[in-house]
Amino acid sequence: MPVLNRAAKALKHPVFQTVARVADQLGLETYVIGGYVRDALLERGNAKDIDFVAVGSGIELAKAVAQNLPNRPKVQIFKNYGTAMLQTQGMTLEFVGARKESYAHESRNPSVSPGSLVDDQNRRDFTINALALSCNLDNFGRLLDPFDGLTHLDQKLLITPLDPDTTFSDDPLRMLRAVRFASQLKFVIEEKTLAAIKRNAARLSIISKERIVDEVHKILASPIPSIGLSLMHQTGLMAEVFPELMALQGIEEKEGQTHKDNFWHTLEVVDNMAQYSDDLWLRWAALLHDIGKAPTKRFDQKAGWTFHGHEFVGSKMVYKLFKRLKMPLNEKMKFVQKMVAMSSRPIVIAQEVTDSAVRRLLFDAGEDLESLMTLCEADITTKNPKRFRRYHENFKRVREKVVEVEQRDHVRNFQPPISGEEIMKTFGLSPSREIGLIKEAIKEAILEGEISNDYDQAKSFMLEKAAKLGLKPLV
Ligand code: ATP
Ligand code: MG
Repeated sequence: MPVLNRAAKALKHPVFQTVARVADQLGLETYVIGGYVRDALLERGNAKDIDFVAVGSGIELAKAVAQNLPNRPKVQIFKNYGTAMLQTQGMTLEFVGARKESYAHESRNPSVSPGSLVDDQNRRDFTINALALSCNLDNFGRLLDPFDGLTHLDQKLLITPLDPDTTFSDDPLRMLRAVRFASQLKFVIEEKTLAAIKRNAARLSIISKERIVDEVHKILASPIPSIGLSLMHQTGLMAEVFPELMALQGIEEKEGQTHKDNFWHTLEVVDNMAQYSDDLWLRWAALLHDIGKAPTKRFDQKAGWTFHGHEFVGSKMVYKLFKRLKMPLNEKMKFVQKMVAMSSRPIVIAQEVTDSAVRRLLFDAGEDLESLMTLCEADITTKNPKRFRRYHENFKRVREKVVEVEQRDHVRNFQPPISGEEIMKTFGLSPSREIGLIKEAIKEAILEGEISNDYDQAKSFMLEKAAKLGLKPLV
């Protein structure tokens, strides 16, 4: 569609006419700017977040607009930032006064003064994010594009409006935003812009962890996350954010034996996962599934390269990494830890699919078994087509066996049919080592398939086991 039509379509919703009318009444030059305009021109579907910039007070404009909207929304005002926000018809409108910014070296918080539209466009991160559409009644929908953002949209290029060293040094978060947009939009970072990111990567250290993680989430959520992740690697941003992933890079050779490059393997696993699942935390699990391999790598004359215990070590590293990045240490973190810790279990089982191994897998993975199987399938990155097919077939067999065992034995989220309390009552004991032993023995017997998951069988097993320990039931 020609760009003029796209621009007109971008402002089709009646809310833009309302803003334009109110802006005219207040005598405020007003524009729609940033992500909304970019996405509309890219025909990515109309976004729900709309940014307006007024040459004057954005807060006054927001208040007056709210009065003229059918739902008379409440206006949230952020006085310190000179911004105001309101919700209407499923959209979030944000208003800000056009501003000039100047930065001190050690902070990303600029000192701000009122400015013109062009001043405001100058402080934007990329030319494609500086596109503005006029939102007054005359010139309604006219495109203001001082940096040729439209051409860059067509060329799929990310370029800073000013000298890139200035743009990135002013606010280093923009470097990670460049990578994120490249990954989300499948754009290329222009050469000089890319070179400036490499020069300024270490400046990311002044950015809050929360903002960094926000961008990483968006990279992981993009259709081909490796676009963003390899750009992070190429620019040095990866080393700032994930040194433990950098440590996976490289292939060592000893006595003619090599191991795979676990960094590039990891990126492939994340891409595979993005094909299989939209679950952000499963993508995190894919990203971190091998991080224990750097500290556990050994060379052994007989066994060659080994990574013994990397799953356990890796799951401990997940905690440290989440903590360092100030991510919540909640059930999502525990889920990622569990995935990393169990990441080799289905692989081992796939060699020989026995009932008892599958029962144990079901018992330990519980409701996360599906996710774990998906991680293992994403982990298959062999380029050998025969092996590729064989590995997938093996996991298919594990999945089939899981269904079969589960239908028969009901071991997912399984609680042994005899509780510790019942054992104590039966033998007149208080909590003790023996109770633990008997309880564990019952669980083991069920998982091993010696007895079935059934009260009567468990009870006679308990009596036998207790007798061996010299215990007699009370009655
Ligand atoms: P998305 O909403 O998909 O994350 P967006 O481009 O709308 O993308 P926002 O963070 O919503 O990103 O910001 C809106 C606009 O504000 C951007 O398009 C850009 O013009 C400007 N902007 C946001 N963050 C920065 C920044 N760190 N430096 C310069 N300009 C920025
Ligand atoms: Mg936005």
